[in-house]
This record gives sequence, structure tokens and C-alpha cells, in this order.
Amino acid sequence: MIYSQIRTCQKCGQDNRVSAKHLAHKGRCGKCKEILPAISEAIELDSMSFEDTIRELHVPTMVYFYVPSAYGVPGQVGIYELAKKLSGDAVFVRVDVMKNHELVERLGVRQAPFFRLYKHGEVFFEGGEGLTGRRIIDVIQSSMILH
Ligand SMILES: [Zn+2]
Repeated sequence: MIYSQIRTCQKCGQDNRVSAKHLAHKGRCGKCKEILPAISEAIELDSMSFEDTIRELHVPTMVYFYVPSAYGVPGQVGIYELAKKLSGDAVFVRVDVMKNHELVERLGVRQAPFFRLYKHGEVFFEGGEGLTGRRIIDVIQSSMILH
């Protein structure tokens, strides 16, 4: 199952479906042709959607494996600010490790929080505790140069 997103047009209110492949691209509203901005928030994937969606994403894709807390989803390393900052260049994904044991095991992820950068469906970088937002920007940028 490939993830897709509904982008609501700010001008006319039309809902536009955007497939995973185009998440990092600007689009145009199907009704009024207004520009729809590239994704700027982290998308939530699960066991059903993870592999298919990662394969579709051709920009660097940073996956944040997290443990939900009583306060919701912890914003480790300023991940949500990074998603905004790198909008159009990279896609940010999050995976709830408590709800997706099978997936996490399949991927060989043994800790959380944990970050893994995919490029063209392959692992380019990974890291856990101690990773900084600055380092994440650096690895995403180097993955854009090296391919
Ligand atoms: Zn519109």
C-alpha cells in the first residue's frame, strides 16, 4: 500500500490527492491551478505502507522511529522543524515502534529513538541517541550530492 496525501488548496478549498512519488514536489490544484507547496511535515507510515512508500520516494527520506509518550510524539532533534526547513529536498517519515513491532524487526531496528536515511529505497545513513539536527542536515545534504 503506497501512502498518499490529501493537500487542500488554500485558494479554492479543493482536496488534491498527492502520491508518495510527488510529496517533495510542488503541485498545482486540479481545480484552480493554484500552486500547492511541497510537503513540510513528517508523514506517519506503518507495516502496511512502509516498504512500498519508501520505494516510491526518490528524494532523501529520513525515517524517525519513535516511542510515543503520554505527551504524544516526542520531537527528537527538532525533527518537525527539519521537515519544514528541508521541504522540497527531503521527506520525513515517522514510525511508531510500539505499534509496528513486525516492521521494526524486519528492518533490523533495535533501538528508539532511531533515525535512518533512505535514498532510492536503500539505507544511506543511520543513527540513534546523540544524533543532532545539524548532523541530520549534513547527511541529507551529502546524500543529495552523492548518489
Ligand atoms: Zn484550488
